[in-house]
Amino acid sequence: MHIVITLIILVAGWFGYHRWSRHRARKTLLASPLTDQERTIIADQIPLIRRLPPDLNAKLEGRINLFLDQVTFVGCDGLDVTDDMQLSIAAQACLLVMNTDQWYKHLRTILIYPGAFQSLQTSHDGYVVREHKQIRLGESWAYGPVILSWADTYQGGINDEDGRNLVLHEFAHQLDQLSGHTNGAPVLNRGQSFADWERTILEAYDRHVQATETGRTTVIDPYGATGHEEFFAVAIELFFEKPAALQQDEPQVYQQLSDLLQLDPLTWPQN
Ligand SMILES: [Zn+2]
Repeated sequence: MHIVITLIILVAGWFGYHRWSRHRARKTLLASPLTDQERTIIADQIPLIRRLPPDLNAKLEGRINLFLDQVTFVGCDGLDVTDDMQLSIAAQACLLVMNTDQWYKHLRTILIYPGAFQSLQTSHDGYVVREHKQIRLGESWAYGPVILSWADTYQGGINDEDGRNLVLHEFAHQLDQLSGHTNGAPVLNRGQSFADWERTILEAYDRHVQATETGRTTVIDPYGATGHEEFFAVAIELFFEKPAALQQDEPQVYQQLSDLLQLDPLTWPQN
């Protein structure tokens, strides 16, 4: 009996120690700054980051360190993954979570293709499962990898004013997927009302679908009319890259995203 109790205490102690040391390592990473060389790489590849206020910059750097420690990058189709590529992706992904407690806790792997890649999609028609290939620039799986085209990742980072950013788009899906569903209804921030979020996003989505169907151009990409989850992802791209245009066209959407991410890009110096 004594041996059983001793074993239970030892196992519990080991788990406790393991948990504590992981917690300590996470805290250390979150408090660690980047090197000057890493800062230069990020500033060169993602001009948006040069506009961040210093307090946000410090938080971003800690999260980049945590991200790089957690995630394995895998090159596909012969791509050699460089440190610059890893830094660029980590920095853009962490923009979404730099000022909240949200974290990509399920993410372990990022696959990077040199450019657009073929993806095998399955659809169900009764008992028949059909498979077809699609050309994709990126994909985000809830409990699986994020897949990115490097050419489009680079282009999305270097041009921070066109409202298009592949990494922000795919990691908006990652954020959305933390709720267990991919439906444009992410886990909200403390104090946010789900009823207000739902009403705001659904009404804006319906307006956008109507505009798209009647051929009217808006600041929001027509792709956002293909589903609530895509509307959320393209709105996130605009929130960072064209905040004034989003705020002007859809002020309540801008406010909801601002409350969700605890950020206000309108107050950051513009180029
Ligand atoms: Zn998408």
